Amino acid sequence: MAGRNFLFVPGPTNVPERVQRAMVVSMEDHRSSKFPDLTKSVLEDLKAVFKTTTGTPIIFPATGTGGWEAALTNTLSPGDLVLASRFGQFSHLWIDMITRLGFQVETVECEWGEGVPVEKYAEILAKDKGHKIKAVIATHNETATGVTSDIAGVRKALDDARHPALLLVDAVSSLGSIDFRMDEWGVDICVSGSQKGLMLPAGLGIVCASEKALKARESSTAPRCFFDFGDMIKANATGYFPYTPALPMLYGLRESLTMIKEEGLENIFWRHTYLASGVRAAVLDGWKLGLCAKDPKWYSDTVSAIVVPEGINGAHVIDVAFRRYNLSLGAGLSKVAGKVFRIGHLGDLNELMVLGALAGAEMSMLDVGIRIEPGSGVAAAQKYFRTHDNVPKKKV
Ligand code: PLP
Repeated sequence: MAGRNFLFVPGPTNVPERVQRAMVVSMEDHRSSKFPDLTKSVLEDLKAVFKTTTGTPIIFPATGTGGWEAALTNTLSPGDLVLASRFGQFSHLWIDMITRLGFQVETVECEWGEGVPVEKYAEILAKDKGHKIKAVIATHNETATGVTSDIAGVRKALDDARHPALLLVDAVSSLGSIDFRMDEWGVDICVSGSQKGLMLPAGLGIVCASEKALKARESSTAPRCFFDFGDMIKANATGYFPYTPALPMLYGLRESLTMIKEEGLENIFWRHTYLASGVRAAVLDGWKLGLCAKDPKWYSDTVSAIVVPEGINGAHVIDVAFRRYNLSLGAGLSKVAGKVFRIGHLGDLNELMVLGALAGAEMSMLDVGIRIEPGSGVAAAQKYFRTHDNVPKKKV
């Protein structure tokens, strides 16, 4: 098919040409005396992305799922109790992993389209006087439903209850796109991956551990080997890895971190809010459809899950978009399969790219029989973009 594929799934995202070029490298000796320059510079620059000065970034040749496993097995012991909430496919999969690894979990079931139930967490933590709960899990951005949660609120719930549990956060689809504050929010482990806000292919599980998490590791007895923080930190201290690193990915990461520095993290967050607002104007004002997110406070700036009318299969919209218009939209997953389709709006993206995706989504919806006003979504987004700033007026 002529022309470019429009990649609008919520990860993997578009890899900028600069990053693609940076990854075309000959293999080299990862034990050379030059190699530590690369390791040290990416680990140092990742701190700014996590907004931490005291945390330790760690890079695994893995994905976000590997990062989850690392977070759990480095801090917990078999049978430990974890507090979690389920409101989408990714928060669900994390809970599934907790049980499969032999930990116990107290799950708060929420409606899909809501986020971390902060008040309920506060109640449970206040009641847990014996501190049976060893870790609290929160998915910052639930990619399946387009919901962003209040991590500062979870921290407050822990502090108000004077509860010592660790706070483990999934920021796979928020890091580098939606404001995330490791130190300020007292996050003990943040889990992310390379293929979303960091604008790389999938292949790196990128986590950051607080001093408290590293202390917990010393007494944690969960079996771990590949994902052991200790081996990694020891090798990283001299600029090396305990096993063969994914070289091209590290060079790509070096370039994407440079791009993030150049644009400025706060400008990036601003751009994501601005582009997401254009998408929401299209969905709500133009097409007059609904979002899976139940309330504006949950709206995600990286992904929108659009509810299709009764009698229409969302998978059909995605199929037409791909086959007829070469546009990749995100599928509805698990409980919301067929009920929604998703537009990913994160990473290396601008207004015209978003307008192209909205135009394609609009045509695909019309093709499958959804009665929207032709051109209405694109017009609503254009109006939003033309009347709003895409960067903060004064430096933040
Ligand atoms: N958590 C969230 C919120 C995600 O969106 C994803 C993937 O899309 C994952 C975890 C799993 O990450 P990975 O596919 O990199 O293993």
